[in-house]
Amino acid sequence: MTPFLLVLSSPSGGGKTSIARALLQARTDVGYSVSATTRAPRPGERDGQDYHFLTPAEFERRVAAGDFLEHARYGGHRYGTLRSEIDRVLRGGHHVVLDIEVEGARQVMERMPDAVRVFVLPPSARVLAERLRRRDTETAQARRTRLERAAEELLAAHAYDYVVINEHLRDAVNSVGAILDAETSRVARQRDLVAFIEQLRQGVVDAAARGESE
Ligand code: 5GP
Repeated sequence: MTPFLLVLSSPSGGGKTSIARALLQARTDVGYSVSATTRAPRPGERDGQDYHFLTPAEFERRVAAGDFLEHARYGGHRYGTLRSEIDRVLRGGHHVVLDIEVEGARQVMERMPDAVRVFVLPPSARVLAERLRRRDTETAQARRTRLERAAEELLAAHAYDYVVINEHLRDAVNSVGAILDAETSRVARQRDLVAFIEQLRQGVVDAAARGESE
């Protein structure tokens, strides 16, 4: 298997983080790229696990050092994917799941064009607003800003490779899993395919010569 990047984007509240978590629990062939951010941890979030929480100065230093594969601004904060995270997961032989917004996804495609991009859509505007409200981790103003940003981000969905509507989490996770499986089987991603087919072919030629089907 040749591991690749799986980019999950959706408007805030669309469910991409839940899908990413469920995929990690359900599958042994994926790993998660822990992003860096300058926003404060939410209750229950742990440094190094949910995010690498950096000060703005530290984030800037790492931008200047070229440590990020991509980075973007969201809700007044910085977010970015560290190259070291991608390397860590790929080196382990796993596909890398990235939970990132659309500007970052665009940068990833420029730099790693064989990444697979999936846009997760909420089933309706009402459900999206309700999920944001239920999460209750933001102020009313921040939620409004996220909804405004969501309206903008939805315009980017058509540029992705796949869309998945997240009405029921389990179905959405299965759909993303099916995408992972199909992309894993792509001929272009089979590093050892030529050697394997040649070995098979030789075996078949030899079997024919020995008359093994008679
Ligand atoms: P939140 O603050 O809700 O955790 O994330 C806000 C937005 O930032 C979400 O759309 C999330 O996908 C995105 N995000 C998280 N990590 C990254 C990252 O490393 N790069 C980019 N570009 N966006 C990210």
